[in-house]
Amino acid sequence: MVRALRFVLSVILLCASVAAAQTTASAPATPTSTTTTTATAFDINAAVDAYLAKMPPARRAMSDAYFEGGYWLILWDLIVTLIIMWLLLHFRWSAKMRNLAERITRFRPLQTGVYWIQFLLVTSILSFPMTMYEGFFRERKYHLMNQTFGGWMKDQLIGLMVGLILGAILMIPLFGIVRRLGRTWWVWGAVLMIVFAAFVSLIAPVYIAPLFNQYKILQDARVKDPILQMARANGIPAKDVYEFDASKQSNRVSANVSGFAGTMRISLNDNLLNRCTLPEIETTMGHEMGHYVLNHSYKGLVMFGVVIVIAFALLNWAINFALVRWGTAWEIRGISDFAVLPLAAAVFSLIFFFATPINNTITRTMEFEADMYGLNAARQPDGEANVDMLLGEYRKLDPGSVEEFIFYDHPSGRTRITAAMQWKAEHPETTSVEEMNRPLFAGATGIPKN
Ligand SMILES: [Zn+2]
Repeated sequence: MVRALRFVLSVILLCASVAAAQTTASAPATPTSTTTTTATAFDINAAVDAYLAKMPPARRAMSDAYFEGGYWLILWDLIVTLIIMWLLLHFRWSAKMRNLAERITRFRPLQTGVYWIQFLLVTSILSFPMTMYEGFFRERKYHLMNQTFGGWMKDQLIGLMVGLILGAILMIPLFGIVRRLGRTWWVWGAVLMIVFAAFVSLIAPVYIAPLFNQYKILQDARVKDPILQMARANGIPAKDVYEFDASKQSNRVSANVSGFAGTMRISLNDNLLNRCTLPEIETTMGHEMGHYVLNHSYKGLVMFGVVIVIAFALLNWAINFALVRWGTAWEIRGISDFAVLPLAAAVFSLIFFFATPINNTITRTMEFEADMYGLNAARQPDGEANVDMLLGEYRKLDPGSVEEFIFYDHPSGRTRITAAMQWKAEHPETTSVEEMNRPLFAGATGIPKN
């Protein structure tokens, strides 16, 4: 039932996005000869193409190859996960890890914690070749990585420590719920998962992000003052803006709004500060403020909450289905036995693999809203187009509409620049010739020097 519903929903969304793409594509071909004042004065499509042409073809080909390779990685990651989880179940490693946990302590919650440590260490080691290829060598190959292997490895180990602690915080109450609540565990398990997601978002900006990067209050008044001015004008009580040293890892331009309530903060990375002009920084911060004003972190939690509840219902069904057939062979005593975790992880990976377009559409929709907010707040359509081009270093600029629907967690460069140019057509006074003429990619290859 749920499956059918999800299928119907995705088909409707798909049709809607294809229809929308066709509408925009056919619009310039059928100009109405009577009263198209703005359309004749400013050719939106030509302006978009002019921006897209700023990236040299070699750089464009590399960015496309990088991003398209990412589509396949979604599949390969799933396959690797499924193989590892199958190994853990088939060779009863999971049962053995449970037995060890039970020998170490008689206290149930602690047993879950000991099992979790073994589980995370074993799966991290088994998937390490894939992690290394994906996270280091592939990034290096596409000139997106500034770290040495040692520096990257250090980040991985910090991430592992965070995973050990946060995972235990989730797993211990989760299996407590499964033991106590029986058949309805999945409802409360989903609730716990949503609370956990909110908790992680709450602590991440203050306690997790600084483990990887150095955050400091932005001092440069030439940048800080216009940002705070825009914040005040948009009802944001921010007193500070944070900058962090992302150039340690890569040249990627980025900013974010993170946290909840008391830990909410606006951060921009040093690449944005070093590589962008003030109008470009302003439009980016306008976008981030849009996330805040439009309450995207709360809305995201609600929308992903729906996905999580559906996923837990499917998870419950799939675990029971598999345990009846293979539970004895895997030496798993039942759904409340934490040795069931590899099975749960395999099912979860499968569900989220198929939910990729849904999750991407949830975030992409909010990102587009933030773009529109940023255009209205900063009024820098040409700056916005330049930033969208810089993001094209690691996100394919001009995909097909179905491709964008399935794989994009942010709108594509073409979609974003089209929106900016559409906005500019209605606000011709905001045109910036300086921004339009600004070269963004140095040399014929357009690869930034590390
Ligand atoms: Zn955003």
